[in-house]
Amino acid sequence: MKRVIGSLRFDIIFIQPMDMFSSVPYVKSLGHISVLRNKGFKVGLIDPAADKKNISHVLEEILESQAKVVVISAFPSTLPFAYRLSNLLFKTNPNIRMVLEGYHINASPDILFHLPIKYGLRGDSEFALLHLCNSLLRDEDIDETTKGLIIKKDNKLIVNDFGYIKDINILPIPAYDLMSYGKYFSASTNKKIMHYFSARGCPYDCNFCAFAAQRSYRVLSEEIVIDHLSYLINTLKYEWIEFMDLTFTISKKRVLSLCEKILEQNIHFDWGCETRADLIDEELVSKMYDAGCRKITFGVESGNEVVRFKTGKKITNKQFIDAFALCKKHKIRTMANFIIGHPGETERQAQESIDFSKEIDPFNVFFTRMTPLPDVEVFYQGVKNKEIDPGIWVKYMKGEIEHPVYYPSSMMPETMERLYKKALYSYYLRWSTVKQYAFLFKKPKYLINTVMVFLSFTFGTPKFK
Ligand code: SF4
Repeated sequence: MKRVIGSLRFDIIFIQPMDMFSSVPYVKSLGHISVLRNKGFKVGLIDPAADKKNISHVLEEILESQAKVVVISAFPSTLPFAYRLSNLLFKTNPNIRMVLEGYHINASPDILFHLPIKYGLRGDSEFALLHLCNSLLRDEDIDETTKGLIIKKDNKLIVNDFGYIKDINILPIPAYDLMSYGKYFSASTNKKIMHYFSARGCPYDCNFCAFAAQRSYRVLSEEIVIDHLSYLINTLKYEWIEFMDLTFTISKKRVLSLCEKILEQNIHFDWGCETRADLIDEELVSKMYDAGCRKITFGVESGNEVVRFKTGKKITNKQFIDAFALCKKHKIRTMANFIIGHPGETERQAQESIDFSKEIDPFNVFFTRMTPLPDVEVFYQGVKNKEIDPGIWVKYMKGEIEHPVYYPSSMMPETMERLYKKALYSYYLRWSTVKQYAFLFKKPKYLINTVMVFLSFTFGTPKFK
């Protein structure tokens, strides 16, 4: 279960995204690793955030492992780490082949022009990466038209279509054995947590959403999900599974049946998921609780219906009030995600979000300032309206500016910043909220992490070393 890197030799090494305080398990690359291992490649994984490794340490481990291919995963927020690491690696050993994976390259392949990285992956890219590694490490011919593959060649980009796996049941179990057991943190639980996808895609179309490109909804069979859960709980001893399906209860029938199977198989664990307020009802919530569900996250986005409907999320305030009350009735904790800074949002409307967060009274509230993620409507509209610099992510990656935030012209940036801080303070510094977090006092490490996450969201994330 414990990973050992340093004295081991690998063909390929994966570097997890470097997210300073929220060391959440990043499981997307685990599917790629399993496919590669099944074909005989020796694959290692370095998780700098979980294992508290700085960039020099990561570099040293890569070089010691003698890996010839390094796959770097990056979210938009972790681009600076990918930038620094890839440049250091290129300077130290230009023969190492680097591949960029993760949300940013999916949305914005041209980021490769600003990195010493030749390859990128997009969409369901397990088999695209296998093909690339066969070519780089086993001298097989490369098919430059492979779906899911991006290649930088002669100062041009070959950007193929998104990789797409119609039947995700053909994939092997992700390589959970390589994860740093017990080192992942979630503010809403003090248990050993692992993330898990039982489905890919979301058929909805919210205009700020980073996953809009993955609309095609596909699920793992119930038998496979039960096998995976049993392995994670009974063999690897995780205590909390966070389902990362973009919208967990798209099919009520499937979730009811999955819950029945968890109960029949006597797999005891707590779990959480994310879904929409218009996709739950009493029968479902009650059954989910019986099967161990202890937390549901809802994207509320705004306390103002007009603002929310404009995002494409057509769920009323009443539906949210009912959904949060229903979960409370069944003793399921809730988390509400809000965004401040929607296009055209006014100060009064942002204040409505702060007020609504207290009205629905979830266990956890997550306020973010609107992030102009590449390839979402907010970004394109912001660029068109001259509210956003199109080169914002490259500048951020190179450390020239702070993390990008979208400030709509309808609100002064100072006003938005003030409201954002007020939203966090006024929710978390209430006695009723502090009381809910009392259980963290039993685990000082988690308490410190929670405070650090709160401070980093309020005052900005410190730079990594
Ligand atoms: S429902 Fe959620 S995952 Fe689906 S498009 Fe909307 S925000 Fe994205």
